[in-house]
Amino acid sequence: MPKWLRATLAVFVVAAAVLGAAYYWFVVESSMPEDAAFALDINEVRRMVAAVPGDRPTRIEVENVASFSAPATVIVAGDGWSMRDMPVLSYRLVYPESSIIIDTALSQLLGGDNLAAFDEEAYERMNQAMREAEMILITHEHMDHIGGLAEHPELPGIMPSAKLTTEQLGDPRYREPAAFEPGFLDGYETFDYDKYAVVAPGVALIKAPGHSPGSQMIYVQLADLSEVLFIGDVAWHYRNIQTLRERARFVTQFFLREDRQAVFGQLAALKALSEAEPDIAIVPGHDGEILGALVEAGVLKEGFSVTLNAE
Ligand SMILES: [Zn+2]
Repeated sequence: MPKWLRATLAVFVVAAAVLGAAYYWFVVESSMPEDAAFALDINEVRRMVAAVPGDRPTRIEVENVASFSAPATVIVAGDGWSMRDMPVLSYRLVYPESSIIIDTALSQLLGGDNLAAFDEEAYERMNQAMREAEMILITHEHMDHIGGLAEHPELPGIMPSAKLTTEQLGDPRYREPAAFEPGFLDGYETFDYDKYAVVAPGVALIKAPGHSPGSQMIYVQLADLSEVLFIGDVAWHYRNIQTLRERARFVTQFFLREDRQAVFGQLAALKALSEAEPDIAIVPGHDGEILGALVEAGVLKEGFSVTLNAE
């Protein structure tokens, strides 16, 4: 073999090895770090909830406002490039006399070209439910969870119902392209807590930074004592918990700027919880299959009823 050919081949072999390693690192690799940990003491949360008297929610409704679509490996690293659905959802806890919204999806304008589908009527029902809600909570500050709030046509009127934390409002880059008008948040009083906080009968917040600085899980215990845990985007699909695999690193590092170690700890804690407490319904951020199964099982009711407690 001539010297020049040998040199050229060597260059190609090295380049292929580097590219292969980079592909593996950024698209496939998703092993659990050894020291990943997250303390999720469900019995402490239950104790705190039990200590707050009052009527619990009687049902949970869900609106499927929009959908994204993403390659499988974006959701669970190593799952390949076939496309998967990511529904964008809003939930309503219905009390005898009031209601609480969890997550506000986004507007069509915010979703733009990223949207695979948008349901204008569901969006309008969500906007109406936000007007009626006593409290609006978000699992985290990303645009597909805070966007419906930020874009609400009567935002100044409903903002007092929104219970947002300092972390959720801290860095506006995390909610882009959702945004509040300059100065709008001046004087807004954030709700701050350390680890867990009960915010209404049957509803507790569980601080869980990682996917974003303001990420939290929301634990709900209904009047019939059934339990639901909204985990926001700690996992986009339930498969993240089952397999203990994170999103691909090119997503968590360059698009989300996520604390990957923290999210891994939370995935491990949720898997342990699912095994110890299989009756708790764990609701990932964007899992259409889990959504369908929970609607089928009667845990979630499809669609926000038009007016609360209509006689
Ligand atoms: Zn999301």
